[in-house]
Formats: sequence, structure tokens, C-alpha cells
Amino acid sequence: MKPCTARVIVSATISREDLLARTLVALAVFALAALAAGAALGAAWGWALLALLLAALVVHHARHLRLLERWAAGPPSETVPEGDGLWLDAFTLIYQRQRAEIRQRRRLARALARSRQAGRALPYGVVILDADFRILWCNDSAEAHFGIDADSDERQPILNLVRQPDLANYAAARDFSAPLELKTARDDGLIISVQFVPYEESQWLLLSRDVTQAARLEAVRRDFVANVSHELRTPLTVLVGFLETLRERKVEPERAATFMELMGEQGKRMQRILDDLLALSTLESAPEPPGEERVAIAGLLARVRTEAEGLSAGRHRIVLDETTGHDLLGAEAELASAFGNLASNAIRYTPAGGEVRLTWRAGSTGAVFTVEDTGIGIEREHIPRLTERFYRVDRGRSRETGGTGLGLAIVKHTLARHQATLDIESEPGKGSRFIARFPARRVVPARTAVAAVT
Ligand code: ADP
Repeated sequence: MKPCTARVIVSATISREDLLARTLVALAVFALAALAAGAALGAAWGWALLALLLAALVVHHARHLRLLERWAAGPPSETVPEGDGLWLDAFTLIYQRQRAEIRQRRRLARALARSRQAGRALPYGVVILDADFRILWCNDSAEAHFGIDADSDERQPILNLVRQPDLANYAAARDFSAPLELKTARDDGLIISVQFVPYEESQWLLLSRDVTQAARLEAVRRDFVANVSHELRTPLTVLVGFLETLRERKVEPERAATFMELMGEQGKRMQRILDDLLALSTLESAPEPPGEERVAIAGLLARVRTEAEGLSAGRHRIVLDETTGHDLLGAEAELASAFGNLASNAIRYTPAGGEVRLTWRAGSTGAVFTVEDTGIGIEREHIPRLTERFYRVDRGRSRETGGTGLGLAIVKHTLARHQATLDIESEPGKGSRFIARFPARRVVPARTAVAAVT
């Protein structure tokens, strides 16, 4: 069978009347030829010629019918056979239809592939389920969310694969008006919001969305509100208690003076908490510190040291070890508060007689400010959580020394705003080291470069 891809299409349409007329013309031609032969050679020759012509016509049609039959039995892409006479037109018509169908099929395949690709790439999980919640299809996000595989888990009931009682109860209740928040068993603590949506006649779409970040933020917000309330309620309760005692009972002036002093302390504590909260919220909402403001590090370190000495009141040995070759670009007040916080923590968590060492090193690869103490140290499991707001290893000790539990959160925020990081190394009973590392682009040569260790 010859391929007809290069076929020249003679006629695009062919009608039934056309076919009939051309068949009648052919038969009339045969009859005339037979009559002429009969007149010239005798009737017998005329009949014989007619029979021969009709037989040839039957063979012609039979051959083309056979071609048509074989083509029809082949695959849809089988090349349409070529024919002669009437069959040429008929096959051309079929050929045109076949081409149009192939084009249409290709268009549909492309559209299907596009929509499948879009479905697969969606950031939302989509699973198509049958009436019994068996998986018919799912996209990449759904595979990741539910830990299923589109190919190997096809036709598996999703509730057998995702063994979560909450999901099973949600599916059993058949009330899908609100989504369900599901904490997956994955190591990364993925939390997804899922919802069943009726689809087609008796199928379901199971939609899923990663809400881990939002759920975490919500948890942080809840914790934060609870913590602030708790932190402020304690001094407030003490204050109110003293006030009531003073109002309801006759208190000797000496005791009243003690009460007043204690009330003043609680008031100051609330003020410190509010000041730190305000500092934190200012850091969060303020624009990035300017990249071009030069902070004279020598002066800043001297102030941090003086403050630490004031806080220590001679109970500690305080060492400042600095290389005065470079300054920092950033916000001076923020950096002074962060460095001061680290130094004051070192004093507060180091028993009398201990040492606190402030070190400043800077060069072409960046700058490092370290506060090292020989204090109480920190157990390993607490270290990753120290910069959380209100996190304390020992609440009592923090309070006794005037802590708010917000100092390291402020330090971490300030450093992050200067593209710096905070490393904490500690050994219980031996001491701690808090290391702030600044990138090279924040470091500039100091106006005077003198190395000094005091
Ligand atoms: P606080 O106001 O309670 O000191 P911070 O945020 O500054 O709050 O510190 C959080 C916790 O980290 C402290 O309560 C304390 O348990 C621990 N901590 C901070 N600095 C030190 C240090 N130098 N040595 C030991 N523990 C420390």
C-alpha cells in the first residue's frame, strides 16, 4: 500500500448523486460499447463484451472494497489506500477526514498534557477519588502531603494509606463544609489543611494545602500573648496585693515603707518588660539599618565595658580584648543595646569572682564580637531555644537578676538586621560563649588603627 502523505487532493467533497451519476455513465458507456460490438461483430460478441466490462467493473470495486476493508481493520493511524476512478474520490475524502481527526486528536492531547502539567505543578495537593475514596489520580503536591504515589497507589483507598484517625473521622462524618487541619507524621512537622469536594457524579476531590508556617505563627502568637499576660500578671498581682493590704489594714509606717519599696520594684519590673517588648516591636517594624552609617567600635566597646563594670560592682574581672583596626556599618544604638545585653547576661549569670571577657576581632572576612564568661553555663538542650521570647533556663534566677527573658530575642533580631549571626557555646558549670559574626560588607577600616589589649 502506497503512503498517501504526498497525495495531491483533487476534490475535497463528493456527493451521493455524484457517485450515482458517474456509475450510470460508466454503465451507459459499457452498454454503448456492447451495442457497437454487437452491431459490428454479432450479438454474441456484444453480450460477451458487456459481460467482460461488467466483470472488470466488479473486480475493480471488489479490489477497492478489499483495500477499504483492510484499512478499516488497521489502527486509526493506518495510511488511507490509494484508489482509482470513483474510489480515488472516496479515499481522498476518507484521507481528509483522517487528517482532520489526527490534527484534532493532537490538539486534544496537547491540551490534556497542558492541564495535567498545570495540575501536577499546583502548590496545592489534589487527589481525585472514587465514591469509596480510592485514588484515581493525584498531583505532586498531594504525593508530598500524603506520602502517596500516583502510580503504585492507584485504586488504593486513601484512608488505608494515610492512617490518621482525624482524617478517617472527617471522611466518615461527611460534613466537608469546613477544612480539617491535619498534623502529619512527617519528621518536618508538616501541617496541612484538607477538604473533600464533590466532583463529577460520584467522585471526590481531596484538596490539601501546606499551612505549617501559618499554624506555627499562630502558635507563636498564642504563646506570646499567654507569656506577656503571665509576665505582667505576676508583678501586678503583687502590686494589687500590697495596695489592698495598705488600704484595708493599719500598717505601721516601717512596714508600709518596705511595701512601697517592693511595689516600686514590681513596677520597675513591669516597666522593663514593656520597654523590652517595645524595643522588640520597634526592631521588627523598623527599616533595615543604614548600610553607610559608621559605628566607631572602640567607643562603643568602651561604653559596653563601663556598663558591665557598673553592673558587676567589682564582683567580676572584666577584660576587653580588641583589635582597633575596623569599624562597623550599622545602627549604633541597636548594636550598643545588643552588645550590652550579652555583656549584662554574662555578669548576671556568672557568680562573684568569675571573669567576663569581651573580644572584638575584625578583618577582610568580617568581624566577630564575643562575650565569654566563667559562669553557670547552659545545658545543651536549652541552647537552641534561648533566643525565643521569654525563654529562660531558670526563671527564678532570671527574675532575681532583673531579667525579662527578652534580651537574647532582641540580640538575635538586631544581629539579623545587620546580616549577622549568633552562635552560642556553653558548658554547664564552666561558662558560656556568645559569638556575634558580622559579614565583610559591614566592616570598614577604622579611622585610627591601633591594636590594644587591656
Ligand atoms: P533574661 O532576661 O532571662 O536573661 P535573655 O533572653 O537575655 O533573658 O536570656 C535567656 C536565658 O538564657 C536566660 O534566662 C538564661 O537562662 C540564659 N542565659 C543567657 N545568657 C547566659 C549566660 N551568659 N550564661 C548562662 N545562661 C545564660
